[in-house]
Amino acid sequence: MLRPLVAVLLALSIHGTCFGWGADGHKIIGAIAAASLSKETAKAISDLIGEETLADACCWADEIKSDKSYDWAKSLHYINAPRGAQSIDMKRDGAGGEQIVTAIATNLATLKDASQPKAKRVEALKFLLHFVGDIHQPLHVSYKEDLGGNKLTVQSFGKKSNLHKVFDTDLIQRRLRDTKGGWAVMSADLRQAITDEQRKQWLANLDALAWANESLVITIQLYKQPPADLKVDTAYYKQWSPVVNERLQMAGVRLGALLNDAFQTNAPAKKPA
Ligand SMILES: [Zn+2]
Repeated sequence: MLRPLVAVLLALSIHGTCFGWGADGHKIIGAIAAASLSKETAKAISDLIGEETLADACCWADEIKSDKSYDWAKSLHYINAPRGAQSIDMKRDGAGGEQIVTAIATNLATLKDASQPKAKRVEALKFLLHFVGDIHQPLHVSYKEDLGGNKLTVQSFGKKSNLHKVFDTDLIQRRLRDTKGGWAVMSADLRQAITDEQRKQWLANLDALAWANESLVITIQLYKQPPADLKVDTAYYKQWSPVVNERLQMAGVRLGALLNDAFQTNAPAKKPA
């Protein structure tokens, strides 16, 4: 029985190196999205990624971070804004090269383009799955000088952590400690709690720049109200875990819609001109 052990080791290594939602966060988003796919979209995705689940495929872009041939993709997981900015200005903040906002558009375009080689479309799909998650993690739209909260050291439930990791992992792990069944149960619980009204509201804007701006608004609040004495405790968890949960829900709902849309618009494109 090697596979479970390998899976555990892999999960640990992902946690250790992750700069986005931790693996659990990405899987929660992937499973919420997977539940909303049309039959046609689900088939198109399994034609690309085979037996791998959407939840697992969401983590790929973090797993390749140790592969030097993918160093070019490291800056695609986030976007920075200057302190004091109330919204992202793409001319100012996006000009230094590709970042998460344009990476979502670029990979979506490649995925939709059936004339692209399959391997390129698979890679584009896996980047897209991951970046739609990351852009909903507030601290992926943050400040360069403290690396999106990575430099803000805090004590998190008695252990050394940082603000970025608190939102990637610690607040989710805290909830998982209280519930049985791990990320899959948490994902199902979050998905079932989504109301029609929320779904409608979240889908009103399928624009990565708008998602980044939502994250920035939260980030501004996070810096205005840092954890008291830089200690993340139950009170901080109670204050911010509803925000984390909602960002996971929003990312999952929007990812599902984006994928359904991507594979629907494929069909008319194949019609002869
Ligand atoms: Zn990431």
